[in-house]
Amino acid sequence: MSDQVLLWCVLVVVYGWECACWLGRDSVALITWLGRGWRLRNPGRLVGNQRGGFVAVPPLPPLGTILVASSLPVSLSAQGVLGFVSATLGAGGRSAQSGAFFRMEDLAQIRVRNRKLFVGGRFLAQCDSVVAANQLAATLKVLATAPAETRERELQRIVRSMFQLGGLQTVWNTFQARSRGLRWCTNALFCDLFLIIPAAIWFLGLGRTWVPLLVLLLGLTTTAAVLFHRLHRQLYPELEDERFTHCILVWLSPATSIRAVDTLSRPLLQAYHPLVVAAHFLNPAAFRPFATRVLLELRHPALPVCPVGDEAAVATELFWRSLLLGEVERFLKKRELDPQELLAPPTLVEESCSAYCPRCRTQFTRGTDSCADCGGMPLLPFFKPAGNTPK
Ligand SMILES: [Zn+2]
Repeated sequence: MSDQVLLWCVLVVVYGWECACWLGRDSVALITWLGRGWRLRNPGRLVGNQRGGFVAVPPLPPLGTILVASSLPVSLSAQGVLGFVSATLGAGGRSAQSGAFFRMEDLAQIRVRNRKLFVGGRFLAQCDSVVAANQLAATLKVLATAPAETRERELQRIVRSMFQLGGLQTVWNTFQARSRGLRWCTNALFCDLFLIIPAAIWFLGLGRTWVPLLVLLLGLTTTAAVLFHRLHRQLYPELEDERFTHCILVWLSPATSIRAVDTLSRPLLQAYHPLVVAAHFLNPAAFRPFATRVLLELRHPALPVCPVGDEAAVATELFWRSLLLGEVERFLKKRELDPQELLAPPTLVEESCSAYCPRCRTQFTRGTDSCADCGGMPLLPFFKPAGNTPK
């Protein structure tokens, strides 16, 4: 194998790595290749840990788009913040959470380190992106400084803002319009790196072609870095350090440069609840099972619903979940989906089944009264027509 072929193979491997995106367990990715049909993806369980796993983005032109939707990794109430959320979006169960509880008055000392939040040096929670971590820290600071009697109203406002479909559409349309130039540039870079350069070296030889090829490559990565910097500053003006690091990578690493749009699109809609993101991008047939899952998790989260016995922490978990559940139900009704219908008992798989788990919908025969997979969730009986009851 010649040096050039070996180098090209290394480039393919590096690019393959760039196409694998790390995602927290409580996040979902929405992915499209051609920009029309969107698919919902959970982080994979094959390569990952308790905190997250990988999802793959479309590697070939037009390179597609990835959006990440996550719930807030904390529960909030007028009393304080709990580093625990009982409802999860992850198919593999809850991610590792701190379970730490802080009173509102303590939140003035909140600090963000990369994607993690700390209060007075103690770990509170980890977000899926630096953008989300900064947004959450800003929200907590507002709550901490708000008068105690207005906090509940402020929390309701925060939750309502997470369900603003109109706001999401505006953000998305603006992003699409502004990222067009960068998309063209990254697609051109893909063609240059994987088609033009190998073909030129193969047919004309490296000695005769390396100067124009290098100039073309540098021209494309420099253009991508400039466009990336401009768009990053418009979308995330406060993240100067992150912008600098990403720009250097986009400029110097062609494989990273090709995926530059992903870096910008991934945290774009993290201010919105995953249900709202899914409602905008998924077709009704794909949205319905996701809506059912969100609803089930909020109505019947796996047990225990709170990892600590502290009264204020328990109340905070319940308050936050109830607030979200109310907003989720309102949102679904507006989209003409009946929450009661989505939560209807599953279709009986066998006559011998007498009960089902309200969370995971597994069906059980007689002799079982709780679901171990859901932390000992009490089962609900099937209401069978008279005469069909097993004797
Ligand atoms: Zn279950």
